[in-house]
Amino acid sequence: MSSGDTLVEVKDLKVEFDVREGIIKAVDGLSLTVKRGRTLGVIGESGCGKSMTARAILNMVPKPGKITGGEILYYRQVGGNGKPLITDVINITKLDPDGELIRQIRGGEIGMIFQEPMSSLTPVYTAGTHINEAVTLHRLIPIRKVGDQLVETIQAHRKVSKQEAREIAIEMLRKVGIPKPEQRVDAYPHQLSGGQRQRVMIAVALSCEPKMLIADEPTTALDVSIEAQILDLMRELQETVDMAIMFITHNLGVIAEMAEEIVVMYMGKQVEQASAVELFYEPQHPYTRALLQSIPHVGKKSRQRLASIAGMVPDPFHLPPGCVFHPRCSSFMPGKCDVIVPGWKQIGPNHWVRCLLYEEV
Ligand code: SF4
Repeated sequence: MSSGDTLVEVKDLKVEFDVREGIIKAVDGLSLTVKRGRTLGVIGESGCGKSMTARAILNMVPKPGKITGGEILYYRQVGGNGKPLITDVINITKLDPDGELIRQIRGGEIGMIFQEPMSSLTPVYTAGTHINEAVTLHRLIPIRKVGDQLVETIQAHRKVSKQEAREIAIEMLRKVGIPKPEQRVDAYPHQLSGGQRQRVMIAVALSCEPKMLIADEPTTALDVSIEAQILDLMRELQETVDMAIMFITHNLGVIAEMAEEIVVMYMGKQVEQASAVELFYEPQHPYTRALLQSIPHVGKKSRQRLASIAGMVPDPFHLPPGCVFHPRCSSFMPGKCDVIVPGWKQIGPNHWVRCLLYEEV
């Protein structure tokens, strides 16, 4: 794949929260590349830094967090329609988070779907932050009709009349499986179920045909048939507008179906990265292996218990020395893993791992 296929490049990203108790390194030296028209999966337990990476890409890390290092390069193509395509490289970390350019990019060129917000408010955010996010990223606002919110978003990012925007809105509601979209377009969010609100948010994010979609646990609140419909819709858009997807989830079944490449994160760092096939069939990091062992498999005896990862996620203010995963690791090497910090090693043409078992490879 040529470098022209790169849409977003995250280099050595660091996001920290400076709070009374100390500094939390929410993202600690993460590097990844999102390619046009491809899907990158990001997996890991809650609090591993997946969502904060997504927010950093949109330059909307909530306070008191901030980006303290690294860069996020957005390769924006301008031209087309007979004119030559020129690639403009924008360092998102250098943009004013409230400025004109990032507001054009957010929602229009890089769309984001969060979990259903009314059923999953993020505990580290204040109510004010949630409302700010709603306004900035077109989350649903309870006192406005969903159609108005959709039409406004479409008109902000596409050159269409109000009537055309309303028709696109109705069509998008139909595509995400909202029954009677011609009527529901005039409903208020509180008149819809949680699953329907989530589908409206997905319609809002997809209606602008973004170059990249960041989907953060987008289908967690939905039942499996609607989930399948939404995943099909994402794939359809990916083909028609060459949309890149960064799919963040702890649902390994969904990621196996959607992603071509997967990054596994633990305590703010990436611990393994490989093609989806290689990661599922030949996982190398003990954490990835433990995650995969915790998925139910067809053929497993019905009364057999699923494996779980031993121990707890460590306290972010008192991280263990050496490899941060060592207190939970089944391959722990005393005197080595609790002393040496593992580096990021390439172990195959498209396979990287952060583990002392592979230091010599
Ligand atoms: Fe386990 Fe040691 Fe590898 Fe960490 S470095 S994952 S503790 S084997």
